[in-house]
Amino acid sequence: MNEDTHVSSEHPRSESIRIRERVTRHVETKVLALAGLIAHGRGEAFDYILGEETTPPAKKAITAAAATLLIAERPVLSVNGNVAALCADELVELSEATGAALEVNLFHRLPGREEAIEGVLMEAGAKEVLGVGGAASAKIDEVFSDRRRVDPRGIYAADVVFVPLEDGDRTEGLIRMGKRVITVDLNPLSRTAQYANITIVDNVVRAMPLLVSEAERLKGEAPEALREIVDSYSNVEALSDSMRIMVERLGELSKKGVYLEPHDL
Ligand code: ATP
Ligand code: MG
Repeated sequence: MNEDTHVSSEHPRSESIRIRERVTRHVETKVLALAGLIAHGRGEAFDYILGEETTPPAKKAITAAAATLLIAERPVLSVNGNVAALCADELVELSEATGAALEVNLFHRLPGREEAIEGVLMEAGAKEVLGVGGAASAKIDEVFSDRRRVDPRGIYAADVVFVPLEDGDRTEGLIRMGKRVITVDLNPLSRTAQYANITIVDNVVRAMPLLVSEAERLKGEAPEALREIVDSYSNVEALSDSMRIMVERLGELSKKGVYLEPHDL
């Protein structure tokens, strides 16, 4: 995909604007539904408050997520349009590092979308993509949208499901089915962030490469050592620490109000 942009790297939001251009282009390829753009904007707002950096609690959650995926019996990485548009390469790398299957799972199953997402994953090196077309033949009774349709070889039978940028109804449904749920969500207040077993409060663009390298680092560890990492992790603590970082950052900035120097005015 053409990544050319007119945005100067001097611009304080250049990276965010480049990412925005990428998701916008993926509306044309059908990978992203229009609602995906709104979801992206909601995430960006929290990233602004977070300071656009991976925080210590996010790093802890990433380590716990890598360990959980590695000790899982049937881990699945659930892929929606936003995630495919933003980090297809890392999803394939994570699937290779952990042995997790890749499954397309969409809120809006519009004609051609599943195939477009499958295409992006295949282009990134995926060998098999579950959940496309008739393959999503099983239904999760707990969920009431297109997302209730899942692949019997994938999410339906999984013990651990990685659902970055997920909708709360479905996260709740997966938890009710007894699955362990890992998510990436910039909004610590979303239902997904609250219900998941492990919530990485970070931009998926920053979190995914870290998750891949953490999975590769922990791959050779004994299962007991991985279990220990998982058992000592507290998601309540991670959420609380993430919220505190946001509050403290805003608290510091609120002492000044104006924190940017006007220039070239
Ligand atoms: P919920 O349904 O869980 O209560 P919501 O309805 O507020 O959440 P959705 O649109 O259902 O939001 O889910 C998308 C989630 O993805 C949002 O919480 C948003 O903050 C988050 N998000 C969007 N873009 C990113 C990104 N690049 N990195 C991480 N999180 C993101
Ligand atoms: Mg929602």
